[in-house]
Amino acid sequence: MNMKYAIIASTVTVAGLLLITFLKATPAPSPLEAEAEEHVIQTAVQDTMPEEEYPFQKSETEWKEILTDKEYRILRESGTELPWVNEYNGNKKEGLYVCGACGQKLYSSEHKYESGSGWPSFWKPLADSLVGEREDNSLWMTRTEIVCSNCGSHLGHVFDDGPQPTGLRYCMNSAAMDFIGDDEMASSEESKDM
Ligand SMILES: [Zn+2]
Repeated sequence: MNMKYAIIASTVTVAGLLLITFLKATPAPSPLEAEAEEHVIQTAVQDTMPEEEYPFQKSETEWKEILTDKEYRILRESGTELPWVNEYNGNKKEGLYVCGACGQKLYSSEHKYESGSGWPSFWKPLADSLVGEREDNSLWMTRTEIVCSNCGSHLGHVFDDGPQPTGLRYCMNSAAMDFIGDDEMASSEESKDM
C-alpha cells in the first residue's frame, strides 16, 4: 500500500518537474519576435527575380527603405503570406488595388470574388498589360507567378480554376497591394478642387 502511494507521489513529482522544465524551455515570443515572423511563408528564392529591365527601378537598399520587412519578403523575395489572416481577403469595399511597391493600378473590386482560398482573388486584372507572368518552380510544382509589369515585384499566382468569363483566379497577397477605396478617391479629388 505504502509502496503504491510512493510510486504515485514520485510519478506526480517527476511529471511536475518535466512540466516546469518544458514551460521554461518554451518562453512565449516577445511582441518584437512575433512581429518579425509576421506570417510570411518564404517559397520562391531571390533568383526568380527578373533580369529584364522594368520601367520602375530601385536598388535593394531603396526597396528596403520604402517597404516594411513583410512587404519586402513578399514583393521582392516572392514570399507568401498566410491565408485568411491577411488584410484584404474579406475586404468588400469598392475601389482599386494598387501595387504595394510602385503604386501601379492592378485590380478593381468589381472583379474580386470569394474564392474560399483565404487570399484576395480576382478573375481578371484591370488590364492584362498591368501584370506580368513568370514560371515559378518552387515547392515541387509549376505555378504561374504574377508580377507587377511596372516594377517586377511579386504579387501572387494565377490558376485556371476561377469563375467565368475568364476561368482564371488571380490569387494575390494582401501585403503586396494597397487598397484605395472609392470614397478615398472621391475625397482626394474634392480636396484637389478646393
Ligand atoms: Zn509595381
